[in-house]
Amino acid sequence: MTAAAKVEAAKVEAAAGPLFPAAEDDRPASTVDERREALRVLQEEVVACCRCAELAATRTQTVFGVGNPQARLCFLGEAPGADEDRQGEPFVGRAGQLLTRIIEACTLRREDVYIMNVLKCRPPGNRNPSVDEAANCRGFFERQLEIIRPQFICCLGAIAAGNLLETSRPIGQLRGRFHTWRGMQVIATYHPAYLLRNPDAKRYVWDDMKLLMQAMGVPLPAPPAGK
Ligand code: URA
Repeated sequence: MTAAAKVEAAKVEAAAGPLFPAAEDDRPASTVDERREALRVLQEEVVACCRCAELAATRTQTVFGVGNPQARLCFLGEAPGADEDRQGEPFVGRAGQLLTRIIEACTLRREDVYIMNVLKCRPPGNRNPSVDEAANCRGFFERQLEIIRPQFICCLGAIAAGNLLETSRPIGQLRGRFHTWRGMQVIATYHPAYLLRNPDAKRYVWDDMKLLMQAMGVPLPAPPAGK
């Protein structure tokens, strides 16, 4: 590579993160059964958790996570809402249905990825998680991610991105490029609930998904002519 090309490549990488990063984790990958078992044990701990007294008293049930324990891509949301609290599965309400459509537009299925939240309990009235609640749950979502070790994490909204990356920067500044967390490639984008209120922001999410699919090596169909 010429010196000029190296400078160009470094600029692209600085702006967007490496497209095909080398795996930084050299531990032997655990089998799907080992991961399932580790997740089951962790879920038992989550079910019994009462660290946040208000959440433990008001939840119908904890909402752990769902999907492929060997997923290359994990979606991280904020906290369960009323539908998720009732059904025990993340992203099943209106925002969840939009997330499913986003996943399918990427030519993937919900079963291919893993979907989870920062908080495992619904905050009453769908308020934002408090700093203490997020800190109480941190060990759970970190261990979930360490068990699955996805190559890619997509944070949905500022609360997910802020908690994972430990930053208070707004989502508008975090999106559009890759970050790293413990050797995993992280992209942050707008939360589907925000898109329900602000449909114009869907194009930014689609730009982020295109960047993510390109990095994952997942080809997307060409847009219809004229688009
Ligand atoms: N919003 C989230 O952040 N998570 C869910 O599971 C549902 C809605």
